[in-house]
Amino acid sequence: MSLRRIAKLNTGATIPLFGLGTWQSKKDVVKNAVKVALDAGYRHIDAAWIYGNEKEVGEAIRESNIPREELFVTTKLWNNSHRSEDVLPALEASLKNLGLEYVDLYLMHWPVAFKSGSTPVARDEAGKLIFEDVDITTTYQAMEKLVETGKTKAIGVSNYSIKNLEKILAVAKIVPAVNQVELHPENPQWELLDFCKSKGIHVTAYSPLGSTDSPLIKRDEIAKIAEKHNTQNANVLIAWGQQRGTSVIPKSVTESRIISNFKDIELDQEDLAALKALTEGKAPHRYCDPKEFWGIEVFN
Ligand code: NAP
Repeated sequence: MSLRRIAKLNTGATIPLFGLGTWQSKKDVVKNAVKVALDAGYRHIDAAWIYGNEKEVGEAIRESNIPREELFVTTKLWNNSHRSEDVLPALEASLKNLGLEYVDLYLMHWPVAFKSGSTPVARDEAGKLIFEDVDITTTYQAMEKLVETGKTKAIGVSNYSIKNLEKILAVAKIVPAVNQVELHPENPQWELLDFCKSKGIHVTAYSPLGSTDSPLIKRDEIAKIAEKHNTQNANVLIAWGQQRGTSVIPKSVTESRIISNFKDIELDQEDLAALKALTEGKAPHRYCDPKEFWGIEVFN
């Protein structure tokens, strides 16, 4: 197996199974992180309008002088732009930030519509979220129109459960190319993965290391496998995701980690069984759950 492995999307395009995440990568360091990643051989960068750093991410991409067609760039539609008329302007704003003519993939970031407007997360005086009454199918149908503009090569969704995917699929003319969700051995979501596979939807694993300050990466079970392969704990988690056929997009702004995360290992059956055992008899654990930060249930 090689980290340069790719998957084929239902559009016919390819997506690298390994990419760089950029959430929480601060503006003053993210440009260098993307540069180091591209120098190390990464060809897939995961961005989002809400991360507030598309401009710096785009600068690093453009300054790399890597032919655009060799790169896979994803960005995401934020929750305040779910009305049909807001969708194209939102993509155009991201392209302007990135300084790119197109992205390879445009994702609906969450199946949740916040009040339209310039405030990313609108709240009332009592601090309660203000939602926009727009169904996810309406937003998705507006996203379908983006493909013919050439401003994105593919469209997809993020944080979608089977139930929400079924809702979209019932009206979709274009099957989402990707569903980007939280996946790691503590939240393997096997059923969702099987469902996506059956519908031709590629899956990208976010927070593959368990996100910031995660206890997952420090677990003894992970360390034991890493020691056996003479590698780092992160590489075990990355290999787990790739061996399930998902793209994996670990974030780092630390040069040494960006480089070491790119190193390839192959887990064996014993390792995979040990990782599977992490959730046996236990409820899956999410590190990125809107129940905690917005007080809403998204995945049910
Ligand atoms: P992650 O990639 O699981 O973990 C990132 C954390 O791990 C950072 O604190 C990073 O620290 C650290 N790290 C990286 N490599 C390491 C290594 N080799 N050893 C030890 N620690 C290491 O978390 P994430 O950022 O939540 O998820 C990855 C990407 O997925 C995001 O950046 C974003 O692009 C995407 N994402 C998407 C959504 C969505 O809703 N679609 C949600 C969450 C994430 P340093 O940076 O300090 O090195």
